[in-house]
Amino acid sequence: MELFESGACDLAIKIKTGTISSEEVTKAVLQKIEQREYDINAYITTTPELALKRAKSIDIQRIQGKDIGLLGGIPMAIKDSIITAGIRTTAGSHILENFIPPYNAHVIDKLLDAGAVIVGKTNTDEFTMGSTCETSYFKPARNPHNTGRVTGGSSGGSAAALAAHECIAALGSDTGGSIRQPASFCGITGIKPTYGRVSRYGLIAYASSLDQIGPMTKSVKDSALVLSVIAGYDNRDSTCLNEPVPDYLTEIDSGISGIKIGLPKEYFEEGLDSEVCDITMKAVEIMKSEGAEFIDISLPHTEYAIPTYYLLATAEASANLERYDGVRYGYRAENPENLYDMYCKSRSEGFGIEVKRRIMLGTYCLSAGYYDAYYRKAQKVRRLIKEDFDKAFKTVDAILTPVSPTPAFPLGSKINDPLQMYLADIYTISLNLAGLPGISVPAGKTSDNLPVGVQFMGRVLDENLLFRLAYALERNVGTSLTYEGAVV
Ligand code: GLN
Repeated sequence: MELFESGACDLAIKIKTGTISSEEVTKAVLQKIEQREYDINAYITTTPELALKRAKSIDIQRIQGKDIGLLGGIPMAIKDSIITAGIRTTAGSHILENFIPPYNAHVIDKLLDAGAVIVGKTNTDEFTMGSTCETSYFKPARNPHNTGRVTGGSSGGSAAALAAHECIAALGSDTGGSIRQPASFCGITGIKPTYGRVSRYGLIAYASSLDQIGPMTKSVKDSALVLSVIAGYDNRDSTCLNEPVPDYLTEIDSGISGIKIGLPKEYFEEGLDSEVCDITMKAVEIMKSEGAEFIDISLPHTEYAIPTYYLLATAEASANLERYDGVRYGYRAENPENLYDMYCKSRSEGFGIEVKRRIMLGTYCLSAGYYDAYYRKAQKVRRLIKEDFDKAFKTVDAILTPVSPTPAFPLGSKINDPLQMYLADIYTISLNLAGLPGISVPAGKTSDNLPVGVQFMGRVLDENLLFRLAYALERNVGTSLTYEGAVV
């Protein structure tokens, strides 16, 4: 196996024991970036010099006998919605095209404390609004399994970078599926932790009551490793939970015998691609053979999840994106006639069409005459969706569902039809509305050789169980690295 094909757990041990150096691994990854970027577009910004300098310093620390950390020397990619001190952070937008943050997000400090090496910032839909990476102001990322297909989104760059071996591990952010859906499309593992498990200090906000940062990796164990580094309390994010972080790796292969898993009937109705359904049902059989017990359940308010999400997320986005006014951050239009004109022009020229659509929709549903009819009503339905889960988790320990109704679709096929695009988020958004954790893990491939993941959903702070379930499946179907025809 080539160096760049390895996972974070393996490499962390090899680097720690001096079997290989961080410099060697980082060079292998940077070389892969050079080879693949012309047709993948996983990155908006790469930082090869910084990465090599950092890798060398980690190697020196190891030689000096210092503790290099859980991710000591591991090359990582960071979604460009997470701010990095001194490294350009664009959120995929023209309005932040030249923005260089003066400080790090909490998760970046955590990664650096654990010895990680940052190789670049990955492509994303603009302000993470999208499901394909095509709303990125820069070029759309392409799926390494078939470059005519989308990567999924919005964390499509991180997913593609992993699948093309252009990094060893990555971070994404998930407001309505942005970690899990590209993970499924690109054949990698992605977890959206419980709301509050990971600090969002330094995450460029889209919809603050839904946003969460999470690991995207080549294997389930790597996911557990990265989450154990970034999870935990931070007083700079008032929604961050002050709960101890378990060691997610110790119990990961303790088996799943007797675990009760629910299959929600609303997730297997019309619109689900037959191959995706078959792969999901095959995963059910595998989980049964591992000792899990399946129970049919219902999440009756699922049909309202899309309108609820797209009202609340856009309302929050319209407030969060107010700050991009041409004064404090980023792009400023030239030759404005007056202050008002400067605001208008800067925002008109700086934001892309999807972002503008959402700001307008969100502003509309928050406006005086419509607040009760739309925003308040959506909040009430959100509660009902959460109660569906509360009820289900009285009888089951976890829930298994598809991640997306289809495998990765052709680039350009949905971008001009926002409604079709929004509808494809049906299996991922309820979890954000309920604040619960969910993991997407590879389950197989279609006849066209496109990866398909399945999703395990869990109770609040039950990430440990999700890792155990995902690992039990991975042991049977393999990771994207061991797939037949894995992209190298
Ligand atoms: N596709 C969803 C949206 O466009 C989710 C995006 C996300 O999770 N950031 O809002």
